[in-house]
Amino acid sequence: MRTVPGRTDRVVVVGAGLAGLSAALRLRGAGREVTVVERGPGPGGRAGRVERDGYALDTGPSVLTAPGLIRDALACVGESLEDRLELLPLETTYRAQYADGSTLDVHADPAAFAAEAERVCGPGAGEEVLAYLQHIRELDRLQWDVFIDRNLDSPLDLVGRPVLELARRGGFGRLAPHVDRRLTDDRLRRLFSFQALYAGVSPFRAIAAYAIIAELDIGKGVWHPVGGIHAVPAALAAAAADAGVTFRYGTGVASLDLRGGRAVGVRLEDGELLPADAVVVTVDRPESLVPSRSRRVKPTYSPSCVAIHVGVRQEFADRAHHTISFGDSWRGVFDELTRTGRPMSDPSLLISMPSKTDRSLAPEGGQVISIVAPTPNLDLAPGIDWPALGPRYRDEVLQTMEARGWTDLTGSIEVEEMLTPTDWAAQGMAAGTPFALAHTFAQTGPFRPSTYPRGGPENVVLAGSSVQPGVGVPMVLVSGRLAAQRITG
Ligand SMILES: Cc1cc2nc3c(=O)[nH]c(=O)nc-3n(C[C@H](O)[C@H](O)[C@H](O)COP(=O)(O)OP(=O)(O)OC[C@H]3O[C@@H](n4cnc5c(N)ncnc54)[C@H](O)[C@@H]3O)c2cc1C
Repeated sequence: MRTVPGRTDRVVVVGAGLAGLSAALRLRGAGREVTVVERGPGPGGRAGRVERDGYALDTGPSVLTAPGLIRDALACVGESLEDRLELLPLETTYRAQYADGSTLDVHADPAAFAAEAERVCGPGAGEEVLAYLQHIRELDRLQWDVFIDRNLDSPLDLVGRPVLELARRGGFGRLAPHVDRRLTDDRLRRLFSFQALYAGVSPFRAIAAYAIIAELDIGKGVWHPVGGIHAVPAALAAAAADAGVTFRYGTGVASLDLRGGRAVGVRLEDGELLPADAVVVTVDRPESLVPSRSRRVKPTYSPSCVAIHVGVRQEFADRAHHTISFGDSWRGVFDELTRTGRPMSDPSLLISMPSKTDRSLAPEGGQVISIVAPTPNLDLAPGIDWPALGPRYRDEVLQTMEARGWTDLTGSIEVEEMLTPTDWAAQGMAAGTPFALAHTFAQTGPFRPSTYPRGGPENVVLAGSSVQPGVGVPMVLVSGRLAAQRITG
């Protein structure tokens, strides 16, 4: 692994999202003097929070997986997860709702999940599910330490038995046929392949190695942090501050102060110069701050989304914490999102109602609900006028939900927050997507931008969803760790 040469005593971390916080905790734990500079008013970045009229709306992630990575980050400064966070495992990971009117509850307990699959999909489905869960567990075991939780400097780093084994198990074929060969019922096939979209690719184009995303949620389970997902960055930032990390909120880094191939500090937007021996950049477009030699072909970005977060005066007592509401269209959805660049004509939606589990998030008799509707990004569909279309699209999504059983949803809304691709772009995110570079084969593993770009300043490293290993809460926590390792060795 290539590491930063020379002194690294004082480190500036740019960005207090989950990647920056993960890096800061590790660096502080390794004895560095760490300052985190964040343009926003507090920690969290995309894992943001809006509080209004008694409702606490998480505006970013809703599905929390791999809590061991949070535990690990806190342990770097000698803290235990239990002292900072209360994590509740969800017994029902997802409720899948299908266009034919059937529903299938994914249980964290494999036997209960298999029984449910058998009930909904018929004899043999339970056994298929158990065999498939075993299969993706093995794929995960093969990949985690080799591809994901590791700094990769070259594709040659991958040469070895696990890659051959992954190839033998079909990991480099396409995900959709990989799943189809192992599961007979179309509903189970969708349930184990929609996660490709978390990685920004269609299951018809994604490599089968991405079957392991379903291991992260369906296989290993989903948790809810009491206080909402924003409680995670809040806890990490509090632990970091208590361990001696300095936070500078409300001021951005305008540029790096470069001398002789190194950064000697960062220039803040208010003109102040913060000296540094090393810098960790976690912003969505690292190239906006860090010059590098690597010239890339035009990057492919993930689809974006319209996110609608509402506080409603209604209980929706029969609803689950997370619902995947599938439309009838399937291949068509991915074509619209990744090829033709149109909003979904028959939407599939991720609907989360965390106040079902955590009553601290909504007033008595109310709920908070987040709806994520994938959309094409602004590179693919530059002509969609989201400020004009947004309100109509919002109505359409809410009407779709009402037609799928969320009766009188629109009428019971008390507070609301909506973000469209234009909003993500205004926050500085490339192609107007909060999901960064898609995990196409050419942007995966050693082919994804490195945590330590060649030809860049020798003491500047990168973390976050735009670099290795990738997008999502677990991956950016890992990227913070990998970036810190470039500095600490
Ligand atoms: C609606 C939505 C739903 C999602 N759902 C899920 C989910 O269910 N599960 C999941 O695992 N993931 C989900 N994600 C993805 C996940 O939230 C992100 O991958 C992750 O939070 C990104 O973290 P980060 O630290 O890389 O970036 P960020 O959180 O964006 O952090 C970067 C920080 O840098 C700051 N910054 C930028 N420029 C500067 C500058 N020049 N100077 C100083 N500071 C700067 C920004 O303000 C920001 O705080 C979702 C995201 C969104 C938006």
